[in-house]
Amino acid sequence: MKLFSVFLFFATALAQNPVEKNYLLGRFDPAFDPRFVSLPAAYAQGSALNGFLRKETFEAFQKMAEAAKKDGVNLIIISATRNFDSQKRIWENKWNGKTKVEGKDLTSVADLKKRARLILLFSSMPGTSRHHWGTDMDLNALDNLYFSSGEGLKIYQWLTTHASEYDFCQPYSAKIDGRTGYEEEKWHWSYLPLSRLFLEEYKKQISYSDIKGFDGSETAEPLQIIDNYVRGVACH
Ligand SMILES: [Zn+2]
Repeated sequence: MKLFSVFLFFATALAQNPVEKNYLLGRFDPAFDPRFVSLPAAYAQGSALNGFLRKETFEAFQKMAEAAKKDGVNLIIISATRNFDSQKRIWENKWNGKTKVEGKDLTSVADLKKRARLILLFSSMPGTSRHHWGTDMDLNALDNLYFSSGEGLKIYQWLTTHASEYDFCQPYSAKIDGRTGYEEEKWHWSYLPLSRLFLEEYKKQISYSDIKGFDGSETAEPLQIIDNYVRGVACH
């Protein structure tokens, strides 16, 4: 019931001010967007220090993190909003061999679809990441193994039990029930009242001709990135 009323609130707000296409594609700077807040150092580490989230996302996260703390669980954001330009840097460094993927220089992979698929194991194409939206974040460690024992397991068990109480959900779940796209990511959590609306808008407004402006973008349509990856999520 709570989730539904929050959903209705945002649905009404969006009906009055539909989200713009450039927003969905991450083509903006959150540092200059009044809808975003910067993350306090108490909740952020690494690239998320001085990072940004949508105000609504951060407020819900803060409530969740404080509740977790009372249960002895420390939730730390390690990556928050990444816009098109920052995703383009990550993607192109892998595409052009500057960043190795599993120890491999990908310029040796001549089949471009194959090259893109290798990057997609770990990274999104610019213009297709949920991190563009200010609704999604990576918590504690980018490593499923970390969450399988000790402190990491305790964190993951807390999240799977309680995150939904704060309207957060793990979109890249274990690949059961035919979910397509990215592998499981136990660290990636999404603030559903906003992200479900942005996903709906994305489906309506974005087509393959909008996925452009970076090396390898010609593989987006052949790989059906929107259908297989953007829509390949466990929570709607
Ligand atoms: Zn993520």
